Amino acid sequence: MKRSFSFLAAVAMVAAASVSASAFNVGNIVVKRGIVDTVYKAKHQVVGLADPGAEFTVNGNKVKAYKTGTWGIELQLQPGDNLIEIKDKSGRDSFKVYYSTTPKTVTPEQQEAAKARAAAEAEKAKFYPTSLNVETKKYAYLNYGAGTDRLGGAKINYLPEGIQMYADAENENLYRVKLSQNRYAYIPKSQVEIKGKYSPDSDFMQDNVVLSGSSSVYNAGEYDRVSIGVGGKKPYIVKEYTDPHKIVVDLYGVQCNSNWLTHKSGLKSVDHIDVESIDSDITRYTIYLKTKSSWGFSMDYSGNNLNIDIKHVPDQLYLKNLTIGIDAGHGGPQSNGAVGLSGLKEKDMTLDMAYTLKSILEKQGAKVVLSRDSDVGMTIRERQDKFIENKCDIVLSIHCNAGGSPLSMLGTSTYYRYDPYKPLAEDILGYLLQMKDVKNFGMVGNFNFSLSAITDFPCVLVETLFISSLREEEMLADPAIRRAMMENVAKGLTDYISECRVKEGQAKK
Ligand SMILES: [Zn+2]
Repeated sequence: MKRSFSFLAAVAMVAAASVSASAFNVGNIVVKRGIVDTVYKAKHQVVGLADPGAEFTVNGNKVKAYKTGTWGIELQLQPGDNLIEIKDKSGRDSFKVYYSTTPKTVTPEQQEAAKARAAAEAEKAKFYPTSLNVETKKYAYLNYGAGTDRLGGAKINYLPEGIQMYADAENENLYRVKLSQNRYAYIPKSQVEIKGKYSPDSDFMQDNVVLSGSSSVYNAGEYDRVSIGVGGKKPYIVKEYTDPHKIVVDLYGVQCNSNWLTHKSGLKSVDHIDVESIDSDITRYTIYLKTKSSWGFSMDYSGNNLNIDIKHVPDQLYLKNLTIGIDAGHGGPQSNGAVGLSGLKEKDMTLDMAYTLKSILEKQGAKVVLSRDSDVGMTIRERQDKFIENKCDIVLSIHCNAGGSPLSMLGTSTYYRYDPYKPLAEDILGYLLQMKDVKNFGMVGNFNFSLSAITDFPCVLVETLFISSLREEEMLADPAIRRAMMENVAKGLTDYISECRVKEGQAKK
């Protein structure tokens, strides 16, 4: 759908849906959820579609359809048969729901099937010994463990390509890799290439561990580069901290032999670097930063040197001097995102809001880069690359949330992965919560979304509202509310930039 997604279009979709799904014979009222033979809970939700704004009763309770044409009610059932009657001017119709107060019985066959499914899942998760050398492909990332959730296992960080590690165990999807003698991580099989066998009898310290060498830090123009001498391409775990602001890089399979840390003059991001040995085969570099705000950093090997390029704080921190990346979540035929009961698609709402936010920010002089500018599918990698190529200073990803009861309002929320970006998530959420009827779903840190896991730019994701909530879907379908939400996102962003300006001492006294 084009950016001019209108409320009328949503209504048209509803009308089409009512005709085809009409199993219920009262006007244009359709029951989409709630017609079931037996339930085991007294609270029973009946949810459906009707003409926008239509008024009718369900068991005598007044119901009014939202402007999107959805409606819903929660009924309190009595044990046994319950007649649910829908009535409007044109007539009435009803269906029966049996509320059983005795727990659902499970047949022995069902029990067996459930056991077999659980066993198959457990089998997939089980690790078996292996002995391979594996090498990272582009965009590989380490996971802390073998656990998983909606967004995959808990990510540690991305690694450059060409890093070899010893895999000593595997399950269906993951290799367990040995980072050092005592530290393991996990890596998806799809992200590595097998580079031959590894002898499990070999001496890990002798055969794998390299020495760190001299290192330097210098101003390379747009960033300060910390160049660490490492005797081979080794995996690392990196984390950025605030108060004091620092980046900590733990190099695994690397024995500390760095006795020469050169600090060139003219550094803008880095105050100084320090090195220590935290285990006989782990070397820790701490990069103490001068800056109070973070603008991202990238890491890559150049030969056996690990370069950490830490972006300078932009001069004159005003929106008009910055490039803002805006990511409209989902898109294309493969990814609608969440779809509301009325047929409202997340991908259409996010694209519309991305364009709105773009125009608001451009009016204030910012340069804006959209990840997608039409209804096309894009991988996270393609989005990331576009933002990096265009040197975005900050990236905002716009989504709609889904989950919970369609009758509840869960509200808005913002998400960040790394601590330095928390104030941006906080500022945006603060403004969104000033809106009428917008509830607080909260702010989420250490968010496992892969776009937020990139360190190259500050990234905050905004889950505007729950498209799965009937009332919030109605709000999302309203262009005025979508615009107001984006105006508040822009205000939060502007506040964050001025806070950075003050922190960096750029503000006029
Ligand atoms: Zn989404």
